[in-house]
Amino acid sequence: MNHYETEAMWQLFKKAGYERTDFETNADVYVINTCTVTNTGDKKSRQIIRRAVRQNPDAVVCVTGCYAQTSPGEILEIPGVDVVVGTQDRTKMLGYIEQYLKERKPVNAVKNIMKNRVYEEMEVPYFTDRHRASLKIQEGCNNFCTFCIIPWARGLMRSRDPEKVIAQAQKLVNAGYKELVLTGIHTGGYGQDLKDYNLAMLLKDLEEKVQGLKRVRISSIEASQLTDEVIDVIKHSKVVVRHMHVPIQSGSDTVLKRMRRKYTMDQFAERITKLKEALPDLALTSDVIVGFPGETEEEFMETYNFIKEHRFAELHVFPYSPRTGTPAARMKDQIDEEIKNERVHRMIALSDQLAKEYASQFENEVLEVIPEEPFKEDPESGLYEGYTDNYLKVVFPATPDMVGKLVKVKITKAGYPYNEAQFVRVMDDVMPAVNEAM
Ligand code: SF4
Repeated sequence: MNHYETEAMWQLFKKAGYERTDFETNADVYVINTCTVTNTGDKKSRQIIRRAVRQNPDAVVCVTGCYAQTSPGEILEIPGVDVVVGTQDRTKMLGYIEQYLKERKPVNAVKNIMKNRVYEEMEVPYFTDRHRASLKIQEGCNNFCTFCIIPWARGLMRSRDPEKVIAQAQKLVNAGYKELVLTGIHTGGYGQDLKDYNLAMLLKDLEEKVQGLKRVRISSIEASQLTDEVIDVIKHSKVVVRHMHVPIQSGSDTVLKRMRRKYTMDQFAERITKLKEALPDLALTSDVIVGFPGETEEEFMETYNFIKEHRFAELHVFPYSPRTGTPAARMKDQIDEEIKNERVHRMIALSDQLAKEYASQFENEVLEVIPEEPFKEDPESGLYEGYTDNYLKVVFPATPDMVGKLVKVKITKAGYPYNEAQFVRVMDDVMPAVNEAM
């Protein structure tokens, strides 16, 4: 989300005639888009703000994003910060910067996000540094899980106007992107605040109305949002990929209750079983928080066994970290760091094993990959890396002109974190337009 919004803000500056420079180069204006999801996010944001001030003490330093929204006072106390804009009114940012240049008085433009019911429209017609495009479709979240600060930083659920989503998607496809990743704070909740329109309808409209669109990936969807209607659309779609990221967080009903998650494990299992019946080759990935306050060994094992039994394709494992200001951070029975780490290691080992098992089904199969960049482990090798629709990372011999295109490859050696493959053929010849000249 932050990457998407940084691009959107850059578009505003570009239209006003600004040039973009490296962070290390002296600039007249620094915009720092901050994160607040963990306490570390705040700390890192403060470090980078101080670095910008040191770099050019005469520059205008403007701080925006989630940390700016939740703690504008704290940020304005950092010497050298001139403008603070939260997670709304970013379209007015240039005006605030001009106001500061005229009046030379700090500008605090942060307002109460909880009162905002309107999606702030900001365009991203292309990305300056990526071959996979994200497309923001909603903002905010109504869930208030006990470990999470995000609703306070982003406000309540607001969906983007479907016509604007389609128009933005068409622009990105015209710019050469084959894959769009639908992004948001609570992406799968798209449409909850709209009348007579929902996520299933958006997926259908994207497929029917966006000319040349090859792949749509949903960045994250809750089990409860995998309605029969959504599953049916995905089953029959030629563009929605065989990969769903469904956050589980815990596989224990008692922990889920303390987390204030809105499902039981029976409900979760019922939904993913239905999804897998519709898409037998599906890659099901998930987020897991390990060591939530009060988590017993039995509760941890409930999560472990559930994940093993349902054969997730990969997990993002997070050791629970108390976020100041959330109910979970105030819970008494915080888990000892050593126990947390030991459980994290067990969960990661399980994830690695499941990922290998999932990938092994595809050995000797021909799959479509979008190569994104030279193989990071050995950039001079002539190998490139990219993802298949079912989220297998694939490494294969390629040429720079293939980057961003759909390429058929044969998996020769399945594995994790990557699969080795042989080039078969390029599917199309349109170049992705990742450049500043557009
Ligand atoms: S669903 Fe829960 S974890 Fe996700 S953004 Fe909302 S409050 Fe945070």
